[in-house]
Order: sequence, then structure tokens, then C-alpha cells
Amino acid sequence: MTTIMSKLPTFDDVAAAAARLQGHAHRTPVMRSRMLDQALGAEVYFKCENLQRMGAFKFRGAFNALSQFSPAQRRAGVVAFSSGNHAQAIALSASLLGMSATIVMPQDAPAAKVAATRGYGGNVVLYDRYTEDREAIGRKLAEQHGLTLIPPYDHPDVIAGQGTAAMELFEDVGALDALFVCLGGGGLLSGSALAARALAPACKVYGVEPEAGNDGQQSFRSGAIVRIDTPKTIADGAQTQQLGAYTFAIIRRDVDDIFTATDAQLVAGMRFFATRMKLMVEPTGCLGFAAACEMKEQLRGLRVGVVLSGGNVDLERFCALLGDGGVMG
Ligand SMILES: *Cc1c(COP(=O)(O)O)cnc(C)c1O
Repeated sequence: MTTIMSKLPTFDDVAAAAARLQGHAHRTPVMRSRMLDQALGAEVYFKCENLQRMGAFKFRGAFNALSQFSPAQRRAGVVAFSSGNHAQAIALSASLLGMSATIVMPQDAPAAKVAATRGYGGNVVLYDRYTEDREAIGRKLAEQHGLTLIPPYDHPDVIAGQGTAAMELFEDVGALDALFVCLGGGGLLSGSALAARALAPACKVYGVEPEAGNDGQQSFRSGAIVRIDTPKTIADGAQTQQLGAYTFAIIRRDVDDIFTATDAQLVAGMRFFATRMKLMVEPTGCLGFAAACEMKEQLRGLRVGVVLSGGNVDLERFCALLGDGGVMG
């Protein structure tokens, strides 16, 4: 634990990441809804990372990590395991930095995700998730070709990069009373907490994860990392089994609480953003909003930030999720 504590990223690392991202990542807009503010009796500021490059905040952490590679690491390239937004973030960042990216994905990953990763220049290696071990495949690739592995959340440079979204939000709107952040493995939440503690020390920082997979809440409340089976939820960006060593250490120290949201609440959020704000937000991206809506009484009169973490959802899936009484209801 002491070794981890001494290696934790700090707000200075978030600020350094922001300088590296300048001119590469979008400074995403902060949006508001007058109707929502009236309904909640609060001022709500949405940080729109669904409008970030490749459609999610993950570009920030990936680019921050890759841009610090040594010349030798750059020549060899990067390897990542992911079927989701981290894969696309690594592929895009690598291509912008002129290095090769190898992405290890399950054979049954959605064709659209494999195509998107290849479209960003990623070299996709498929594996059978029932018979093969992706870690072993990644390690072998790393050893054979000298590749550097960048994990999706438990890495100081990834955490620092993810923290730049909340940093921009505080810079743009000033201190807030509460900040709601989607939670999977905790890269976004821990980075956001570093930004909040430095720029708005009194701001409450809340993580929100799917009800079906509340390992973060259990870990936070028990004080030790709890591991669970892959949860069944439409929030595919938060189907993680456990927090990381770095992310948990920061979350424990700097986060105020962790809440959960049901899939039905996420669908209600998707519908709200599409109809009222003309925003396409993926299920995982609606976690923070869902929890804020549940806390209406406590948030009355306050200034509240909500991170919309991403917008990558197939149009067919989006329509199917909203289908059941969705559009009319
Ligand atoms: C990865 C991801 C998350 C969860 O982020 P962590 O850093 O793993 O907690 C939330 N929303 C979206 C859209 C994601 O891609």
C-alpha cells in the first residue's frame, strides 16, 4: 500500500496532462437544460464527453499515456485489451502519434467495434474468450515485439488524463457543490476527484455504477477491493469486475460516496438527452445523471456537475433500448 500511495498521480499530473492534450483533444462543451434545472430546483452543468474525439473521454487518458512513451517504446508500439472505448482511444492516439497499436479483442466483439478500431488504424488480434486467456496473449505479444501495455484505467497517466475533463468543467463554470461521475474501473472518477480536490475543495464527488455491478460501492464502503462476476447491464462501459489499486486508493481518499443506477434509469436518461438536449449518450454515459435525478431533495438550490462520459452506441441498439414505449412514453 505504501508503494502505491507514493506513486499515485496528483493534480499536477492532471494539469500536465491538460497541457499535453491541448490541440489534440476537444475542449468539450458544457451544456444545460432550463427545463431540467426547473424540475430539480438546481443548476445542472453537463460536461459533454460524448462529443470528445472517438466519442468518449477515454481519448484523454490514452493520449496522455502514449504521448509520454520513450523513443524506443514509440518504435515498438502499444498493446491494449478492450472491446470498447479504450480500444478506439488507444488506436486513435497511436495513429496520431505515429506509432502502431495492437488491440486484443474477443472474437464475438460487435463487428462495428472491431471495424471502428481498425478504422482508427488499430491492428486487431482476435481471441476466443472461452478458451484463450487475453492476458497471456497480450503478454506474449508484448514480449515478442517489445510492446508497452496500457490498461484501461489502473495507470497513473491514464487517471491523470481522464481528470482533465473535470478540470475543464471547473475552469469553465467555477466551483460546484456536487459532481456526479460514471464509474467502471475508476479511471474517470479518480481523475475527476483529483481535479475537484484541487479546484473545488468543498465539492462533493460521487461515483455512480450500474446496480447489477456495485463492486465499487461495496469496495468503498468496506475499505477493501471487492471483485464480482461480470455484471449483466446495458452499461457496457462499466461492466468491470473490480476497481484498480491506484483508482481505489484515490477513490477511498477523495470521493464522498458511490451510488448505483438501474438499466431502466439509464434508458430514461438516454431518452431525456436525445429528446430534450439533442444529445446521443450511451447507456454508461447516463449513470451520473440517473443518480442526480434520484437525489432531487438533497440537490435543491445547489450547483451540480454531471459528466456525460460517452456517446458510442449503435443506432439500432439505441432504438431498441428506447423501443419499449420509449419514443412515445
Ligand atoms: C470506460 C467508460 C466508463 C468507465 O470509466 P472508468 O474509468 O473505467 O471508471 C464510463 N463511461 C464510458 C462511456 C466509458 O467508455
